[in-house]
Amino acid sequence: MTNADLVALAELLPAERIVTAPAQLETLSRDFYWYSPILKRDLSDRRAEVVVQARDVEDVKAIIRFAFGRRIPLTLRGAGTGNYGQCIPTHGGIVLDLAALDRIHGISPDGVAVCDPAARLASIENAARQVGWELRCYPSTFVKAGVAGFCAGGSGGIGSITWGGLRENGTVHALTILTMEAEPREIRLAGPDIFRILHAWGTNGVIVQVELRLAPRTNWAQLAVAHPEFPASFDFVEAIAKNDSFKKRLTSCFEWPLPSHFTPLQKWVPKGRALAFFEVADDQLQRLADAAKNGGGEVCFVAPYTEPRRGTLLSDYTWNHTTLWALKGDPSLTYLQCGFSATEARSQIRRLKARFGDDFLMHVEFVRWDNVVTPGSIPVIRYSTDERLREMIAFCEGIGVSVANPHVNFLEGSGRWRPDDAKLVAKQEYDPRGLLNPGKMRGFAASLEGVSGNAPLEAAA
Ligand SMILES: Cc1cc2nc3c(=O)[nH]c(=O)nc-3n(C[C@H](O)[C@H](O)[C@H](O)COP(=O)(O)OP(=O)(O)OC[C@H]3O[C@@H](n4cnc5c(N)ncnc54)[C@H](O)[C@@H]3O)c2cc1C
Repeated sequence: MTNADLVALAELLPAERIVTAPAQLETLSRDFYWYSPILKRDLSDRRAEVVVQARDVEDVKAIIRFAFGRRIPLTLRGAGTGNYGQCIPTHGGIVLDLAALDRIHGISPDGVAVCDPAARLASIENAARQVGWELRCYPSTFVKAGVAGFCAGGSGGIGSITWGGLRENGTVHALTILTMEAEPREIRLAGPDIFRILHAWGTNGVIVQVELRLAPRTNWAQLAVAHPEFPASFDFVEAIAKNDSFKKRLTSCFEWPLPSHFTPLQKWVPKGRALAFFEVADDQLQRLADAAKNGGGEVCFVAPYTEPRRGTLLSDYTWNHTTLWALKGDPSLTYLQCGFSATEARSQIRRLKARFGDDFLMHVEFVRWDNVVTPGSIPVIRYSTDERLREMIAFCEGIGVSVANPHVNFLEGSGRWRPDDAKLVAKQEYDPRGLLNPGKMRGFAASLEGVSGNAPLEAAA
């Protein structure tokens, strides 16, 4: 950006909403990319030239016009809890901080929450519960994370054992976006059209409103069960995950020593054992405890339902929080995101353990993908070299375990690309100059004949 750009920006917004202080620029250009030693190495020097804090949709439109007219890259930021450097502005330019757009506009009688892009998921959950609803699924970062950031960067979480991933079952009812054009168009996408924008990392439209379909409210209780070995823990959790008579939100299991990293829980975590965490309907807590004891497990933590929910929950140690706790304890660890076979998972796990031993620690989150209860997994792995990491990924794929690679900074490599190229088509339509989060959708550069690298910023004009 030139000095003239900065002077013009100062005429557009009050000074207190234009951030140029180096320390703040650095903070607001980052997410949790550092989980990956590769992204940490490759992205640490990338930052915005300026961060702009929008207060309302009119501000967002003004910034779009400004950036489009001056051909300045624009990267969107919610709460910055994403992984893979999704919101790191690799081409500099402007980071548009949307955190102040956080209102919940309402919840319809049939359970659809209408929200600003940075409405926090925990606020939506609280508001929904007051009128008999709750989120269908949410990431373990739900206290901080915003709803548009979840739609643009996340995939599922607590609740996905019943409701599937965020992309499934109409959970995202509609998304309203602004296009990146001289005069931004406002477009509401519903039904299958949401897949043009969902999990596109803010590369092809600015989400300004999310309509999220909710679930009827349940009073959830928590339970932890220890087993001597991981296979027994896996068997028990899978049995509960597949048992439709249990109403549940969380079905997780961890191989030892992962539970040793859950520092605040050490007063009750049994040493050397595998651990399983559940959230089930409060009136089913005793039945689950009985099933655990009958199956050879030891119930080591029970928390019946209370409202409001205070302090930490077992879910604060699940999903990608498991990795965070492990990384705090041992910075040489990192992670993968794996999809095991619903029928072959036991033998796949055995083969991985035989090959990689304690360098590949099992953490499984059962989910209902496409209506099949499946062991999703975020294994915690030891990083030594890029080559060893590639070897682990190749081995997984060789035995039928899919990997959504969290060590790459572009959409197509991260395992969530759709074969219909809907996101690419949307980018060509809504961001013709390739200014939104440039570099993250490689297919866009390739689609501009003979052009590569940074060139789309110039070439598509
Ligand atoms: C400890 C930890 C645990 C996690 N657990 C989970 C989990 O259980 N499940 C899960 O799915 N994810 C998980 N994540 C990833 C992340 O927390 C979620 O995806 C979260 O919902 C992101 O929300 P955010 O507001 O922080 O988004 P950000 O990090 O700010 O942004 C994420 C992406 O969305 C884009 N974006 C932001 N706002 C907009 C907008 N208005 N329009 C268009 N694009 C936009 C950004 O440019 C970026 O590409 C975890 C991450 C961490 C660090």
